[in-house]
Amino acid sequence: RTVYVNGDYLPETEAKVSIFDRAFLMADGVYEVTSVLGGKLIDFEGHAKRLQRSLDELDMPSPCTMDELLEIHRELVKINEIDEGMVYLQVTRGAPDDRDFVFPDPELVKPTLVLFTQNKPGLADNPVAKKGIKVISIEDVRWGRRDIKTVQLLYPSMGKMMAKKAGADDAWMVEDGFVTEGTSNNAYFIKGNKIVTRALSNDILHGITRAAVLRFAKESQMEVEERNFTIEEAQQADEAFITSASTFVMPVVEIDGVSLGGGVPGPRAARLREIYLEESRKVAV
Ligand code: PMP
Repeated sequence: RTVYVNGDYLPETEAKVSIFDRAFLMADGVYEVTSVLGGKLIDFEGHAKRLQRSLDELDMPSPCTMDELLEIHRELVKINEIDEGMVYLQVTRGAPDDRDFVFPDPELVKPTLVLFTQNKPGLADNPVAKKGIKVISIEDVRWGRRDIKTVQLLYPSMGKMMAKKAGADDAWMVEDGFVTEGTSNNAYFIKGNKIVTRALSNDILHGITRAAVLRFAKESQMEVEERNFTIEEAQQADEAFITSASTFVMPVVEIDGVSLGGGVPGPRAARLREIYLEESRKVAV
């Protein structure tokens, strides 16, 4: 596999980053994951805009222009012959000469930019989407700026392990009694013709897939309510689902051991998945 590091396209075994890199020492880095369908990037513009926002919120310099970023994405997809899969991008505050909490002078220390691809044939036609997934609830103990897409993924990673141990596929995080989001996705339930999901704030990541799915839902005459909800309310819903760049729309059929819709994906979530895939492919770059 060919990867990209600071201006160079290299075999992955030759790619190197300093041990003083602030992402390695302090999780001082941000990332994006863009999916690839039919060799094209899904919602690149949305991911590029959110990346810029993450960088701005952390006073982190941009490693290059967003046009250059698009070129690097395309080049890697081409070189690695990705038809269906993902492009992972990470920007860090770079590698100063020493370990120091204080941000280095951006004139002296340049950001680190790393990209690699993941080949995932069958991403769109995912058999898991036909079965749905089971989630458990866990407490949300993450920091207060979840709107910034940082590489601090230890707790989400622990959450996935807790789910696995409990025989489930993923976890929904709960704070002050209300669901924030999934470990790596946004969370929703459907009751009648209405989709309910938490409103945007610093408490959750502003999902790029979320924005698109809510827009398509409104266009297909579904009602959208952005508000807090509890696990109990979601358990009593007709359907539930998650969204993310790598799962698109994924039905949830069980929450903390309570089955929804007889334990099989409901028609509305399945339809939203179809619409999302269809519409996103049309405008992929
Ligand atoms: N919430 C969290 C915590 C995430 O990690 C992700 C995906 N990285 C999402 C939501 C979904 O965001 P997107 O649709 O942009 O992939």
